[in-house]
Amino acid sequence: MARFDGNAALVTGAGSGIGRAVARRLGAEGAVVAATDIDAGAAEETVGHIESAGGKAFAFQHDVSQPGETERVVGAVVERLGGLHLAVNNAGIPGPSQPIADLSLAAWDMVMAVNLSGVAYGLHYEIPAIISSGGGAIVNMCSIAGTVAVPSPAYTAAKHGVAGLTKSAGADYGQRGVRVNAVGPGFIDTPLLGGLPGEVTDFVAAKHAMGRLGTAEEVAGLVTFLLSDDASFITGSYHLVDGGYTAV
Ligand code: NAP
Repeated sequence: MARFDGNAALVTGAGSGIGRAVARRLGAEGAVVAATDIDAGAAEETVGHIESAGGKAFAFQHDVSQPGETERVVGAVVERLGGLHLAVNNAGIPGPSQPIADLSLAAWDMVMAVNLSGVAYGLHYEIPAIISSGGGAIVNMCSIAGTVAVPSPAYTAAKHGVAGLTKSAGADYGQRGVRVNAVGPGFIDTPLLGGLPGEVTDFVAAKHAMGRLGTAEEVAGLVTFLLSDDASFITGSYHLVDGGYTAV
């Protein structure tokens, strides 16, 4: 019997990087996966990976910054998968590396809309669906930027917000059958870092105690642990997977 047999799981931003790795791991371990992404083709590709490995998945086009889309997608997932037990609010974008006085307010609004409001809209619609399905667990994708500043004020503020929102939801739903946790990766080798010049990547890698970037699969390992029954007494907390970045 696989760890997530009988579970319906929704993963946002599942068309790339960490979201794709989480979706693939959930599918490989028995969950039926709703892979959602703003890029429908990328979500379809993730579904293809899961199906070729013998799993079951469906793709949904979904912009997490639009509450109406999240309401529609959660409803469609419940209908197609017969319920919802697990959710990973993972979709996110990088913020411009400019001090706050130089940052355009449009960029601020965009990063907050996707990286913080997107998680709030997810929780708002997922939690009632999970309660109606008999309970389950949620992981919100935070970052080391939920603990320390990175050179992007909007990203840092949004991720600190995700850590706080996770604690709040964990506290509110602890006795209603929904565990809510956050994961804080260090710098992970995904397309999100694609724009960094090689020397910047080397500099950033050296800031981790382990001297390297992490992989999406290493993050997926922690996410799926927190979603599993092995984490049955863990809620409202924020867990680093950062190769020692915040320890040094
Ligand atoms: P990624 O490879 O860029 O994947 C993110 C996915 O989310 C992409 O498919 C992207 O589509 C999609 N997306 C963007 N905006 C969206 C929206 N409004 N609604 C729905 N989907 C949207 O990035 P990643 O590195 O896997 O990052 C995933 C999460 O981990 C993010 O929350 C990020 O902040 C967090 N994180 C990443 C790192 C890192 O170093 N990589 C570290 C800490 C935390 P497009 O490609 O079309 O934009």
